[in-house]
Amino acid sequence: MKLPLQAFVIGLFAAMAGAADLSISTDFPGGSAEVLRLDSAAGRIEIAPAHHKGRGWPCWWYFRVDGAQPGQRLTLQVSASTKPFRAEQRLAAAWALPERAAISGDDIVWSHTAPGVITKDARTYEIDAPAARFWIAWGPPFLPSHAEELLAAVAGKVPSAERFVLAKTREGRDVNGLRIGRADAPHAVWVQARQHAWEAGSSWVGRGFLEWIASDDAAAVTLREQTEMFFIPIMDVDNVSIGAGGKEAVPRDHNRDWADVPVYPEVAAAQARLRALAEAGRLRVFFDLHNPGPGDKRPFFYGGFGYETAPASQRHPYERFLALAVETMRGPLAIHPAYRFATYVQTDEERERMSANWVRRRIGENGVALTLETAWNTPHSTTEGYRQVGRELAQTIARYLRELPVPKGATKP
Ligand SMILES: [Zn+2]
Repeated sequence: MKLPLQAFVIGLFAAMAGAADLSISTDFPGGSAEVLRLDSAAGRIEIAPAHHKGRGWPCWWYFRVDGAQPGQRLTLQVSASTKPFRAEQRLAAAWALPERAAISGDDIVWSHTAPGVITKDARTYEIDAPAARFWIAWGPPFLPSHAEELLAAVAGKVPSAERFVLAKTREGRDVNGLRIGRADAPHAVWVQARQHAWEAGSSWVGRGFLEWIASDDAAAVTLREQTEMFFIPIMDVDNVSIGAGGKEAVPRDHNRDWADVPVYPEVAAAQARLRALAEAGRLRVFFDLHNPGPGDKRPFFYGGFGYETAPASQRHPYERFLALAVETMRGPLAIHPAYRFATYVQTDEERERMSANWVRRRIGENGVALTLETAWNTPHSTTEGYRQVGRELAQTIARYLRELPVPKGATKP
């Protein structure tokens, strides 16, 4: 009587070894998924982005799969979150459903999946597991650990680079930045990314920007000799860390917080530094890096409201910057050749609380303050595609500054 039972048990183990159970984890920085259904036998995973009450749009998702067989064909269905992110507001499905998802066998190198198939409020991706354990996400993640690695590498390589802590967030996390170039140079540049936590691509653009300005390219070396630059790879560290979307968070969207009394300490700290640079007559370029809507297929700049009717003297620096950008930012993610305007922000009071507008009112002669929106829903919206946009932004800034007269009282080295 014992033999058949032993045979049964051995057979059961053999069957289990052939089709191990899949499991899903999100217990790491930036992790986000609500598991709706997990069917190991069918190789089917169904998730929605995790919902963090009051922490902004529920569009970001990023999770680890364990227990796959390398090469196993799996089906991933991502549904939009049905929960309201603020009062009764629900997010349109398209924000959470990129045409291609990002997939990685090591959580370091990310590639695109094949395009998924869209249905009403979901998208279904057929994926081949790159390893028994792998990661899959809305887009290539850029976390505080990525920022740390980047800033440490540049600070270790470039003598004029120096790290600083911009602020401690409301939840006590460091917002890290890097200062690079000639201290007290006649021109200063400020570039920041990720006021909206889900817009991970904007930090990859920021990485490309920093890599170029820290490089041995002769134009970058000259730029560092004549310019002081400040770079913040992640502003909303709190929401990035917990995997929340951030945009339209309660009590205030991070990029509507540029008020007299900001909610977020990192906004107040950025304002103080930018105000000092502007008052010293040194601030020339300010960029806030974002990602736009799912239908935008190329990067573009948001310009200032009233641009089209502004006097020529005010328009001139922006016209010149755009002309140089069109020549320089050639892609594959090539810049859109005209300014766009964030007309979806409806009141003047709210418009004035956006970072680029706040800076635009203070930046001096020949200064430009702009938002760069880099398309995320294209085949080129990869870590390399984003970095290329950042490099080309840096090259545009270098060309723009080279044309400027040196301010009175300052000397070129
Ligand atoms: Zn944004």
